[in-house]
Amino acid sequence: SDIGSQKDRVVTEEEWLQKWEMGNIGFHKEHGHPLLQKYLDVLLNGRSGLRIFFPLCGKAVEMKWLADMGHCVVGVEVSEQALKEFFTEHNLPYFEEPVPEISGAKKLQSTSGNISLYCCSIYDLSSSIVGKFDGVWDRGALVAVNPRDRQRYVSLMITLMEKKSSYLLVTVSYDPNKHKGPPFYVPESEIKGLFG
Ligand code: SAH
Repeated sequence: SDIGSQKDRVVTEEEWLQKWEMGNIGFHKEHGHPLLQKYLDVLLNGRSGLRIFFPLCGKAVEMKWLADMGHCVVGVEVSEQALKEFFTEHNLPYFEEPVPEISGAKKLQSTSGNISLYCCSIYDLSSSIVGKFDGVWDRGALVAVNPRDRQRYVSLMITLMEKKSSYLLVTVSYDPNKHKGPPFYVPESEIKGLFG
């Protein structure tokens, strides 16, 4: 198949941490993603005060945008460096606390209370820990997940969604034989299969 060349590729958590340490973070968009602005109405659907989830959040500036609009933002990221850079680059005071349900994890929370970022693997989360969400911004997340873990990731995401939530997903289209990823190529047919 056209994604056969990527299906066994694995990027470990350690490798992600190294990318952050080396500043090898070409995926980070300093000025935010134009597709979130374009599709913001689809995400919000006329609602206010939403709980919005950022899987594999990095230091995405869109978290600040949505918090400034009055929404409550929750993210998850393995790199503590990324999360600290998020708060310091936006001059946001924050505090840290352990997450009793997840050994070794911590939560970094803005003092104002509307941004909570979990430092752990997304696979450690569940709705009993983070609750459910009205909206999801999935950019650089599904496409960063190792191909063998995609179904596990999507099944988890579905358990984190409220019945009437909206999910914005950004993918990238290219020839997977010419680039090993991430970001990985996830064809639309596979997305339909994964989300059902
Ligand atoms: N969504 C962000 C970052 C995309 S890059 C953006 O739009 O800028 C993917 C991020 O996922 C990296 O920061 C990496 O450290 C993180 N990551 C990789 N595997 C993870 C996992 N299992 N759980 C949580 N974060 C993970």
